[in-house]
Formats: sequence, structure tokens, C-alpha cells
Amino acid sequence: MKKFFFQKILQKEGWLFNTKISIDKEGKIKEIQKNYQGADYEQLIPIAIPGIPNAHSHAFQYAMAGMTENHPYNSQSDFWSWRKNMYDFALNIDPDDFQNIATMLYSEMLSNGYTHVAEFHYLHHDKNGQSYSSLSEMGERILIAGKNAGIDVTLVPVFYNQGNFNTAFHKKQRRFINKNSDDYFKLIECSRSKCKLYNSNLGVGIHSIRAVKDFMITELIDFNQNKYPFHLHISEQLKEVEDCLNNYSLRPVEWLYSNFEVGENHHLVHATHLNKKEIKLITQNKSNVILCPTTEGNLADGFFKLKEFQENKGNWCLGSDSHIGLSPLEEIRLLDYGLRLQTNSRKTFYNNETANASHLVMNKIFFNGMKAMGIERKNYFEKECSLNFIEIDEKRPLIKSSENEDLLNTIFYTGDIRNIKSTYVKGLNRTEINKNIDLSKNYYQTIRKIKEKM
Ligand SMILES: [Zn+2]
Repeated sequence: MKKFFFQKILQKEGWLFNTKISIDKEGKIKEIQKNYQGADYEQLIPIAIPGIPNAHSHAFQYAMAGMTENHPYNSQSDFWSWRKNMYDFALNIDPDDFQNIATMLYSEMLSNGYTHVAEFHYLHHDKNGQSYSSLSEMGERILIAGKNAGIDVTLVPVFYNQGNFNTAFHKKQRRFINKNSDDYFKLIECSRSKCKLYNSNLGVGIHSIRAVKDFMITELIDFNQNKYPFHLHISEQLKEVEDCLNNYSLRPVEWLYSNFEVGENHHLVHATHLNKKEIKLITQNKSNVILCPTTEGNLADGFFKLKEFQENKGNWCLGSDSHIGLSPLEEIRLLDYGLRLQTNSRKTFYNNETANASHLVMNKIFFNGMKAMGIERKNYFEKECSLNFIEIDEKRPLIKSSENEDLLNTIFYTGDIRNIKSTYVKGLNRTEINKNIDLSKNYYQTIRKIKEKM
């Protein structure tokens, strides 16, 4: 049993002072003692906040971040042109590459304070579109990468069946495709046993309502019975809304809630383009929206209707999606300042329980984020849960001078990665451990090899 002493640690109810937390060999919390006066502990941590869940990731896209920012004078540059580059990239990644990229990415996520990631995974097949001898070969590489980097993973193998509404898939999408529901269920079964092997969680989902035939979505919802968290992209781009109206005579979110029982277990990624009725459908059914502000900005998706969504008490959390940005602080501030710039009001995050913006944000991104991982939590630090936290550098000038009531706001609004001393998962300092394992060599070789092929 290892014992930590926290001078300040953030719980749902606010800062706790002088708290001793004991963990077992697996890093699970066995005891939390508030106002501890003794000296029986091995490690002192001045300031800690909970590790942040990253509820939406496509690991392979990390390797192309920064590679799509040349915009020739006479050509179009939008989500759809970016997607063409992404498909070419995806076709050139073998399982070893995939694992190397994900390992590097997850290590970087940890440095930025993420301690759990939901990998929205659709690179299922080989370059010819054929199954690997193990159906979840690529999913297992994600789990290995998570284990090696030391981040908790929820693997979400998603169903991808067609190119667009009532449209066959493009040959460049061949690695993503499951022919029918049975095919996908076999993948889920195989992924489930791999997740068990690596002590990871499983999710299910569809890439989007445009990528899976309607009757197959019904088959999947019946199969899942709300057992695993259900993830899907929805209403990211205006063209997607128009295509849905042309094919189903309803907007995507309207169509989804009209045809299926969608509730708390459903995690809608982006949901950028919503009308008032759709906001009500999501919030009244207590579904969760996973916002990915840096990716949504980078891909010119649009700005989420945060003001109306909050007024309806909507649930939301964060994902880094394409990984153009890897800091949860950057995601939060982009979301906040985007709205401030639109409304000329500084009051973005608020409710009738707290006036403190960061305490509200932490509550949303932690509890809804963990739910997206398939984990129900009542507090940031609880008995029988892993001790995952971010150690804040108490010596940084603004942190050192901050009063307790402003401390989390100072961390969220004024800081960057330099404020993070270390990130711990299961009581282990992953920042220190990952410094000593050379993840970069394999990663650089992989990137060079992919670039040569393209
Ligand atoms: Zn995505």
C-alpha cells in the first residue's frame, strides 16, 4: 500500500486540505483521510486536480496534424478536402505504425493532463479491405499503446458500412467497412475479449448516421441494450445536415431521436449544427455531447450552440478528436472565448449551483467524460477507483499567488502545460516513467516511412 499526502486536492465539493490517500498495488484508492495531521506517507503533493477524460480520439490522425495547413490560392480547402488527405493517410498505416503513433500520442496526452481516452476506432481492416487474422488486430494495437504509455483506454470500435446516405462506400474507405451487423458484432465480440485482457473498457457505436444503413442502426441498438456506451458523430458539417434532409426529410438529430430510443447512454460527437428542437431532444433525453473545439475549429465545422445548450442544462464533455490540439485547457478556452466573442458577455459557464466557471467546467468534463468511457462516478476521488491526477506546479508565479477560491480558474484560464508538473495514473507518475522509455524513435521512423509512401 502506498500513501500520498495532498496539501490541496480538488473534490466535487471543492478543495480538500491535508488529505491522505492510500492506494493498493493496482493503484486503486483504499482510503481517503481528510484533515490528516500525521506524517505516515511516502509522497507529498502540494496541489492536485483530477485527471481529465478525453472522450473522443482518432489516434492515427495525430500523425497528420500540422500536415494539412497549406492552402493553395486557387483551390478549395474545407472539411471534405481534408478528409481526402486523411483517407490517403489511413491507407498507408500498418499495425506497427498504428501502435507507434498511438503510443506517442497517448504519452503526449498524459503530459497535457488527460488520463483516460475513448478511442473512436474504425481502421479495422488491412490495406486491401480484408480482415486481419485477428478481427481486432488494430484495436488491440490501441490497447497495447495505452498500456505502454500508461493511459486508461476505452476502445470504441465503430460500425462503418457505406460512403454516405444510400451511397456505396468509396474504395478509399475500404479499411473501415463492416458488410453487415453480424460482421460488426463479431468485431465487437473479439474486441470485448481483448479489452478484458488489457483491463480496458469497451464502447460501441456508429461512425455517423450517414455511414450506416438505418435498419443496421436498429440492429445495433437492439444488440447493445445500453450495455456499453454508444458513440456517434453527428451534425458536424452543414453538408451532412443537407444530405440528411434530402434523404430522410429530417435533420440528423431529429431523425435519430424520431427513430430510436436515445438517452443517457448515447454520446453525440460534435452536434455542431442544431436547431432549438434538436437541442431540446438532446437535453430532455439527457444524452451527452462530446465537444472537440480545436478540431471543430481546424476543420471549419462551425461553433456549437453552447449558450442555448447550457440554458437547457445540457451534458457535455471534451475530446481532442484529430489531435490538432492536445491540451484540455486549450479546448475549454476556445469554447469559452468563442462564445464571449459572439455574445459580448463574459458569462459563458454558469449555473445556479456555482459562479466559479472552472469548477463547473471540471464537473462537466469529468463526470460526463467518464460516463462516455462507460464509468459512472460520484466524485473525482473515490474508494475502489484508480488514483489518477494532475500534479500542478505550485511554484509557478500565478499559481503560488492564487487564493483558493481562484486557484482552479488560475489553472484553467492562465496556464499552459508548464503548470503541469506530472500526471499520475493508478498512482504512478507517468510523466517521469515516459521520459525514460524512448517512444520517439519508433514514432519518427514511422512518420518518415508513411511520408515516403504517400
Ligand atoms: Zn471524430
